Amino acid sequence: MVATMKALRKVRAAKGLQMDTVAVPLIGPTEVLVRVKTASICGTDLHIYGWDRWSQGRIKPPVTLGHEFCGTVERVGDEVRAVVAGDFVSAEMHVNCGHCHQCRLGQAHICQNLRIIGIDQDGAFAEFVNIPASNIWRLDASIPEHYGAILDPLGNAVHTVLAGPIAGQTVLVTGCGPIGLMAIAVAKACGSSTVFATETNEKRRAMAKEMGADMVLNPAKEDAVAKILAETNGTGVDALLEMSGNATAIQQGFKALRAGGRASLLGIPTESVPLDLVNDVIFKGATVQGIYGRRMYETWVQMTSLLKAGRLNLDPLFGERASLDRFESAFALLQGGLAGKILLYPNGMPR
Ligand code: NAD
Ligand code: ZN
Repeated sequence: MVATMKALRKVRAAKGLQMDTVAVPLIGPTEVLVRVKTASICGTDLHIYGWDRWSQGRIKPPVTLGHEFCGTVERVGDEVRAVVAGDFVSAEMHVNCGHCHQCRLGQAHICQNLRIIGIDQDGAFAEFVNIPASNIWRLDASIPEHYGAILDPLGNAVHTVLAGPIAGQTVLVTGCGPIGLMAIAVAKACGSSTVFATETNEKRRAMAKEMGADMVLNPAKEDAVAKILAETNGTGVDALLEMSGNATAIQQGFKALRAGGRASLLGIPTESVPLDLVNDVIFKGATVQGIYGRRMYETWVQMTSLLKAGRLNLDPLFGERASLDRFESAFALLQGGLAGKILLYPNGMPR
């Protein structure tokens, strides 16, 4: 076994990332060393690359990025029984403490001491990554390999869609980035009767159609709320799935929600968002939920079932593929907001 490996790291508190040579991680008795086959770039990685205000407060360089990935188990710690060398796996990269109040209540996804692999400790933009055995997710052979690299954002979408009733429901997805696009596919697969989507970016509106949205609106050019109300006999949608983090989209989403509906908020605004609580939440009797990460491990079970049943076609989402050392061009493409999910290969491109 080699002692060193390539890793894409934040080495300095400044813009940019750097390919580095570091030691292959050592594993403890309850940990698993995974040889990364495919990794994918998340919007969060772009923020860390750009070194925005959030990154400056959170990231402690040097650290290897990467929290969307799949790969092959290389070695397991002495106490690990759940997987063996050679297993094809992905992982939940939110690591919970197991003993705080929420963990004890079975709400590990909102653990008080949550650490994220690829943010707070070395992640998967490397030849190898160290994962606690409890967080490893063995992949069913029927799941397409490249889908294994995007289970983290797909899990965000599945968590949001299934946070309330969905079969026979009308749904509005605000924001059709990768997660909004996945949410459209998941909502349709789970029996939503009509999926409305709003998105300001033209290319992403086209993708929303491809993913199965019934009506795609451009809120910058048309009165999306009026259109949705007209299409729902003036009632509004049963569920708002907020996937943009944009203040205007959030406000419009609440206006388009029916009385008694549920608003599931995943998008992360950078500023406080003013809401008309009286008319859009209280008098509506609306249910408002914050959605964070994936439920551990209910979301993973639901996501796996949907994938195994062949209910989700995510192929339109995938864009370029590149070896890890060509990360600069991949990040540049994503900055433009036009690329799909870009796959990176730390151990060489697949044949
Ligand atoms: P993204 O930035 O690629 O997608 C957001 C989309 O919203 C973009 O396509 C953008 O054009 C669109 N948008 C902007 N303004 C709009 C408007 N007024 N109306 C309609 N659409 C508008 O992000 P993503 O990777 O798909 O993630 C979606 C959101 O979820 C982001 O805010 C991200 O930070 C957040 N997120 C939250 C969690 C969580 O656990 N809560 C996890 C991952 C991501
Ligand atoms: Zn905890």
